[in-house]
Amino acid sequence: MRTPIIAGNWKLHKTVDEACDLVTALSAQIAEVSDVEVIVAPVFTSLAGVAAALKGSKITLAAQNCFPEPQGAYTGEVSPALLKDVGCSAVIVGHSERRQLFGETDTFINRKVKALLEAGLQPIFCIGETLDEREGGEMYDVLQRQVHKGLEGLSSEQMQKIVIAYEPVWAIGTGKTASTEQAAEAHAFIRGLVSGLFDNVTAEAVRILYGGSVKPDNVDALMAEADVDGALVGGASLKADDFARIVRFKPTKG
Ligand code: PEP
Repeated sequence: MRTPIIAGNWKLHKTVDEACDLVTALSAQIAEVSDVEVIVAPVFTSLAGVAAALKGSKITLAAQNCFPEPQGAYTGEVSPALLKDVGCSAVIVGHSERRQLFGETDTFINRKVKALLEAGLQPIFCIGETLDEREGGEMYDVLQRQVHKGLEGLSSEQMQKIVIAYEPVWAIGTGKTASTEQAAEAHAFIRGLVSGLFDNVTAEAVRILYGGSVKPDNVDALMAEADVDGALVGGASLKADDFARIVRFKPTKG
C-alpha cells in the first residue's frame, strides 16, 4: 500500500558539477524504476543545478535543512519558500548531525516541520537514539519524546504528508547497520506512537524509512520488514551504481 521511498542525503559533499553528473548518471540507471519514489538531497549550492539536471526525471529534490521563518533578518539561513522556489519538494529535518553538532532541539525541529507543511513541502523527519541511550534502556523514551515533541500540534491530515526516518545514531556513517530485527522493532514502535498520537489510518499511511549505513548488500533484508517503507541513505548515495542498486532493492527475508 505504501509506496517505498529511497532518499539520498549527500551531506556536505560534491561541487555543482559533481552533483549534476551524479544525478544524470543516476537518472539513466534507474529510468525503468516506477514503483519507488526516489529523492536526492544535495548541498544548498547545488540545488538549482540539480533541479535543472532533473528536468523530465522522476527523481525529486530535497534540501538537507531549512529555517522555520519565511523571511527576515536571519543571516545565513534559507526558508522553506525559497527551497520550494528552487525546485525542492521535500526537506530533511531533525537529522542527528543537526541535533548533535548544531544543538537543534525537538521544539525547534517542530517549528521547522510546521513551517515546511505551511509552505507545501514534505518534511523528512529524522529521529533515533544514540548507542548510550540504547544501551542504557532509554531507546523507547527517546523515540517517544522525539515523536511527541517533533510532531506536536499537527492534524492527522498534516501527519500523512510527513515521512519519518528512523536513524539510530550509532548506525549513521559507521558501517554498523541495525539488524533487521532491531529495525523492525523500532519501526513498529514508531508506527504505534503515530497511531496513539493521531489514529490508526494515519499511522498505516505514514512512510517510515530506515537510515544508518544502508548499502547495496543490506537493503534487501531491511526492505523485507513490513514496517520498513524505504531508506534514507548517506554514504552509499554518493555513488550512482550503489544508490541505483539500493533503489532497485529486492525484499528478501534473511
Ligand atoms: C544519513 O546521514 O542519514 C545516513 C543514514 O548516513 P549513512 O548511510 O552514511 O549511515
